Amino acid sequence: MAASPLDEAREILRRTFGHADFRGRQAEVIAQVLAGRSALAVLPTGGGKSVCYQIPAMMRKGLGLVVSPLIALMADQVAGLQQSGVAAARLDSTGEAWERAQTWEKIEAGELDLLYISPEGLMQPAMLERLSRTPLSLIAIDEAHCVSQWGHDFRPEYRMLGRLAEIFPDVPRLAVTATADDRTREDIRAELRLKDAPEFVASFARPELALSAERKRGAGHKRVVELVQARPDRSGVVYAGSRDGTEKLAEALREAGVPALAYHAGLEKGLRAQRLEDFLEADAAVMVATIAFGMGVDKPDVRFVIHADPPASIEAYWQEIGRAGRDGDPAEGITLYGSADMAWAYRRIDGREVDAEVKAVQGRKVRQLYAMLDGTACRAAAVRRYFGEEGVDRCGQCDLCLGTVATVDATLPAQKALSAAHRMNGRFGRGRLVDHLLGKTKEPSAFEAGLSTFGVGQEFSAAGWRDLIDQLLFDGLLKEDPNDGRPLIGLGDVEQVRAVYRGDRQVSLRQPLEAHDAPKARGRKARAGREAMVVAPHDQALFEALRAWRRDEAHRQHLPPYVIFHDRTLAEIAARKPGGLSQLAAVSGVGEGKLQRYGEAVLTVLRSMDA
Ligand code: ADP
Ligand code: ZN
Repeated sequence: MAASPLDEAREILRRTFGHADFRGRQAEVIAQVLAGRSALAVLPTGGGKSVCYQIPAMMRKGLGLVVSPLIALMADQVAGLQQSGVAAARLDSTGEAWERAQTWEKIEAGELDLLYISPEGLMQPAMLERLSRTPLSLIAIDEAHCVSQWGHDFRPEYRMLGRLAEIFPDVPRLAVTATADDRTREDIRAELRLKDAPEFVASFARPELALSAERKRGAGHKRVVELVQARPDRSGVVYAGSRDGTEKLAEALREAGVPALAYHAGLEKGLRAQRLEDFLEADAAVMVATIAFGMGVDKPDVRFVIHADPPASIEAYWQEIGRAGRDGDPAEGITLYGSADMAWAYRRIDGREVDAEVKAVQGRKVRQLYAMLDGTACRAAAVRRYFGEEGVDRCGQCDLCLGTVATVDATLPAQKALSAAHRMNGRFGRGRLVDHLLGKTKEPSAFEAGLSTFGVGQEFSAAGWRDLIDQLLFDGLLKEDPNDGRPLIGLGDVEQVRAVYRGDRQVSLRQPLEAHDAPKARGRKARAGREAMVVAPHDQALFEALRAWRRDEAHRQHLPPYVIFHDRTLAEIAARKPGGLSQLAAVSGVGEGKLQRYGEAVLTVLRSMDA
């Protein structure tokens, strides 16, 4: 019986990667590429973007090119593929000439399935010329949001990749990213010339992540140290806003007995590489870093990401906290923020030498970020709506869903604000709306002064109304039309607005900080069960023995441990205690290559613990 291409792809997923079946939208994306067509795929971090191009590259004739922004990312992926027995290599400026020559020999002999390369490396004329004589199976563009200036990782060199459409007109191109709002997706399509390519957008949900945020109080270090100490023996990343901040915070953590390292772009190259390696290879280590550390850090067992200073936008937030829990096990994202951070963010945008339109977009992103951080509705749901997802439910596990943040009912003022926005019919911005509610509009028209909402909002100051309007925007009850940098406010989701009018839907506003004393251990109790690794107590010793074996093996090969097996795979082995190779092969994450390499060694560890 002839198997369909997708069946064959599934077989490779099973045999080579050790996974039982495709998940999310993987199968659709793979079918598209196998049919020789281009696509844009937006899948959440940890959603399994890489197999979407790896498997088609293994099945189709020719070499699959993977354009990736970071050398560290490439190195990890290539090492992982080689461990699984896939013919993969990378070409980058760090390699030796003889290594490059060897890679080219393999390419020209048609022996490679996948070649990882940087955008600037790929677009060099000599490289393009050489590749034009090589049959290509596909071109994957990883972290495709880097092409967009609306995104948070804009890399000008990514813009050159648009030319690939002309240079390789018959090669399917697959753009993949974890975070792209509507506008960024449009930009990706335009810049990479994927106008007619279908889009596969998976849910942005990260059910393994428990989110929380709190306002900074006094000296930030103390709180961060407290948060980290409450999470011992786990790997984590702490993001700080400045290089100096990372050094000081790492020192404070070390003084508190936490193995913490600082990481930022100002460190000498060798030292930086050493610290990255130490972090990746450790079972439990804390990296205190600027955002120079991040993209491409694939360590799957990061259990928490703490923002000692807030991120720049919701995209950045999702990407940065997204580095926790990549293995799918419970993890936390905790953000500290303050109004001074917000003011600073606005000031920075103001000082940039960019178009007014770009400034307006960036300013709105800041506003939306703080509306979410300081909001009172589910954080995960707010982020997902921000990315354009519809029909989103509460996550049930963020601090706001768990009800650990004090709020006041603001349904009545919300009704006033919505009604005012309705009467003003989306023709004005927020400043004018606030003036209207307060009855302070300068020289109001007779029409406006005659509206029943004019001056009805005496219960709040202008700042209070602005807070509430932010909240309503974020809840989707109001909507902001960018209007070329002079945003206009109109009604959002009509059904929901009606529910508020009827009193069926409550609107709550976070109580100002002075009004309540932030409880210290909020939410921790409710989440304590989620923080633990999913290993039963009686399997713990075996799990640790497997990790110790993996640590030695990783050390011997100079590889990060997770390239050998993920924690999750080891946990499953500890639980199942396979008695032979065929049983071991049934564990998720154990493909044929790894079974051959490590099967006997794993069984030996199992037997030694049995004795
Ligand atoms: P990302 O989308 O963040 O790049 P990766 O491609 O690195 O994610 O995949 C994340 C993890 O999920 C990897 O450990 C990978 O082996 C695993 N994975 C990918 N596809 C599947 C699948 N269909 N079933 C189970 N695990 C999978
Ligand atoms: Zn929630």
